Amino acid sequence: MTQRPYNFSAGPAAMPEEVLQQAAAEMLDWHGSGLGVMEMSHRGKEFMSIAAQAEADLRELLAVPANFRILFMQGGGLAENAIVPLNLSRGGTVDFVVTGSWSQKSAKEARKYATANVIASSEADGHTTLPAPASWKLSANAQYVHICSNETIHGVEFHELPDLKSLGCDAPLVIDFSSHVASRPVDWSRVGLAFGGAQKNLGPAGVTLVVVREDLLGRALPICPSAFEYKTVADNASMYNTPPTYGIYMAGLVFQWLKRQREGDLTGIAAMEARNVAKARLLYDFIDQSAFYVNKVAENCRSRMNIPFFLRDESRNDVFLAGARERGLLQLKGHKSVGGMRASIYNAMPLAGVQALVSYMRDFEKEQA
Ligand SMILES: *Cc1c(COP(=O)(O)O)cnc(C)c1O
Repeated sequence: MTQRPYNFSAGPAAMPEEVLQQAAAEMLDWHGSGLGVMEMSHRGKEFMSIAAQAEADLRELLAVPANFRILFMQGGGLAENAIVPLNLSRGGTVDFVVTGSWSQKSAKEARKYATANVIASSEADGHTTLPAPASWKLSANAQYVHICSNETIHGVEFHELPDLKSLGCDAPLVIDFSSHVASRPVDWSRVGLAFGGAQKNLGPAGVTLVVVREDLLGRALPICPSAFEYKTVADNASMYNTPPTYGIYMAGLVFQWLKRQREGDLTGIAAMEARNVAKARLLYDFIDQSAFYVNKVAENCRSRMNIPFFLRDESRNDVFLAGARERGLLQLKGHKSVGGMRASIYNAMPLAGVQALVSYMRDFEKEQA
């Protein structure tokens, strides 16, 4: 088969080709059932087995401890910006660390349901740094502390999750890990709840993953819609209402693909992380040695997944993008709020895709000289 173009979209993003092929092969008849997955009852034994396998595989891959529940919901990251305060705020005070567009949006939405304090922000430097946890002005009575652990638009990532306990804070940490889930291990000892839309690194749009510590269930405000109450969703194994069945199936195929990945002695998420480190290093190293391209994010918090970069001569942007498309390098235009370019290099992007991008960037720089 010929090489498909490399897709650098921030999301919905590239899927592993093997997964797309498997889904295509199973489209009309899943495992001899005579049914396509889209056509199955979510209460039938076929789909129940697909969902249970997906959950078990994810639990194994991300080493999710037994006292956490895994929920497959709908509404994406933005709906969770409301669903989290509806479930966890008790209408009281909640803390936000604003490190880019996504955490900013989360804080704004939470204000509908709770008193949302911004306890630290990197807005003054254009979200190119992360405020050190020791500088956060944690509220004494916060119901939770929210961070976006990878800011998809600004390209800023927490390489270590904050240890709230060591800061004298007992509130649970909520992380929006939409755009780097499954790219690296998660330190669950520091997390109360994690959420993420699937369309960046797990599967198609339509599924939202929520991983929540059991003791946080059952705190929802009375106005919380039943279908969005974590306890209700958990008690019904994510089938209180019809779940996004096909999306769960596709995410499940991605989980199996992840389990098959090997990198030296490493497997699964550890293998992915090693690959993601190598991919990001290749691109950042190239950008940093060049006088033609620039990335403005501080080195200690550069995202491995989303790499915004600029041409020093921005009048060449359209020519750069057109040339990239000709070489089969797609969706490199930066987010409109930041400008320039952005290469999203999620799990499904092979090293060869980043090599092709760097080789194009090198040639383009030479041509322009
Ligand atoms: C994409 C994204 C969202 C929004 O997801 P939707 O599914 O569009 O609601 C939220 N947070 C982060 C970090 C994202 O990357």
